[in-house]
Amino acid sequence: MMNHDCEPTAVVDYPHGNFTAEVRTLRECVPGEAVTISYDGSGLAVNARREALRRYGFECNCRKCASEGMSGLAKDATRTKEN
Ligand SMILES: [Zn+2]
Repeated sequence: MMNHDCEPTAVVDYPHGNFTAEVRTLRECVPGEAVTISYDGSGLAVNARREALRRYGFECNCRKCASEGMSGLAKDATRTKEN
């Protein structure tokens, strides 16, 4: 089992139609870097992604979620200021 990340370093495929998984990295990884995959929600906005991932029993706080969550908060703060 690999950990989830919304900007994963790898993808899992089942090219033979059985339980044999093929893991391919999406970019060059540095030594010691975790190999991560996206469980769900890629392409969704941060809140929808977190909602989709909740069924796996965790709230994602990866770098992408953290940065998009921060910008979401900034937008909310701007909206509040405008009102
Ligand atoms: Zn995430």
